[in-house]
Amino acid sequence: MKFVFFGAPGVGKGTMSIRASQEFKLPHISTGNIFRAAIRDGTPLGIAVKSIIEAGDLVPDDLTIKLVRERLALPDVARGWMLDGYPRTIPQAQALDADAAGYHVIDLEVPDPVIIERLSGRRMCLHCGRSYHMVHMPPAVPGICDQCGTALSVRDDDAEDAIRNRLSAYRMLTAPLVEFYRERGTMITISAENDADTVWNELRSVLAALMEDPRQQK
Ligand code: ADP
Ligand code: ZN
Repeated sequence: MKFVFFGAPGVGKGTMSIRASQEFKLPHISTGNIFRAAIRDGTPLGIAVKSIIEAGDLVPDDLTIKLVRERLALPDVARGWMLDGYPRTIPQAQALDADAAGYHVIDLEVPDPVIIERLSGRRMCLHCGRSYHMVHMPPAVPGICDQCGTALSVRDDDAEDAIRNRLSAYRMLTAPLVEFYRERGTMITISAENDADTVWNELRSVLAALMEDPRQQK
């Protein structure tokens, strides 16, 4: 099955979609992680997007659409996928519709003040893409990724100015997708304000119910 994890920056799309991908054995595809890996490795893609991402702006649609199209053409997606951070604009959603039918959209919702607090305490593993929070979701060993042992870093776009830009890009370009999907009736909204385990328990049962529903098998 195919799932899109949708929501403002800092709602926990990354954390929840990684857990879901492990639990339900579907590939986790995060455009943010793909861009960050490209920047880390200094590839032509990374060089092209570095300053855009650090400023908290969106990468142009043509580039992002092409990247996801290529990713969704790899053989590991035969049983489905969990998309994290894509689509983020109406043109991206239209492009995804052209390539993939019948995906579910999981909309994670968190009030704005909580978002700012989450983003400013965030630490990230640039090796495996896991996110932590210094207070709410610390790693077992301070500063080290539980999953792969890499030293954690602060994302450049978690600086205060960039956070403001990301939230305004979200409101202008991404929030209109809520209506786009709601009209279609494929959007499931989950409150993501509670701690990660509570949100995960609810999300897991929503996903499990969809997976077990024979009408949903695609
Ligand atoms: P968050 O959801 O916390 O903002 P992501 O890791 O999903 O973080 O994305 C980080 C940055 O990567 C975005 O601010 C944007 O610059 C770029 N990016 C990721 N996905 C997309 C997308 N679908 N379209 C355009 N830019 C994107
Ligand atoms: Zn890691």
